Amino acid sequence: MARRRYVSTTISQDTRVNKLAMQYGDFAALLYTWMIPHAADDATLPGDPEELLYQVLPGRRDKTEDDVRSALDGMAALGLIVGTDDGTTYTFAPGTILENTNQAERRGPEYRQWRAAVLERDNHQCDACGSAEPPLFAHHIKPWAMYPDLRFDVSNGVTLCKECHSAAHGWGGR
Ligand SMILES: [Zn+2]
Repeated sequence: MARRRYVSTTISQDTRVNKLAMQYGDFAALLYTWMIPHAADDATLPGDPEELLYQVLPGRRDKTEDDVRSALDGMAALGLIVGTDDGTTYTFAPGTILENTNQAERRGPEYRQWRAAVLERDNHQCDACGSAEPPLFAHHIKPWAMYPDLRFDVSNGVTLCKECHSAAHGWGGR
């Protein structure tokens, strides 16, 4: 998918991610890269290594809890992520790529209008498989976190059913 390429090209410009790859290995950099589109709307990720791996890279069951812990330690040491106060989740450090992610904006009227416009343009049908079965999602083709200028651009949205939406995010599905 072309979408994946956008993710990696943008992040490769971040010198901290390059350091992460050099000092902690490619897996650490890969994990970080995929944590961005897989974070929750409030930009948090599970603190439990096994849960995190399942959410972010479900295809990498060859990696152990220790591999994930080592990658997370590297991200924290390089100032890419921080633990949240209660210690159960991680979030992206201030000044990193997710700085502009704004939960309030995502729930605001502009977002709701954008979502409604995307669904209407697609006749309330999944653009990938044609299903009209709810719930339907207005999916950002270029990720919300990395393309602030395209957040409310209708041409950057596509209507997807639950299954196709999961597949687009790499959450498994089909
Ligand atoms: Zn579908």
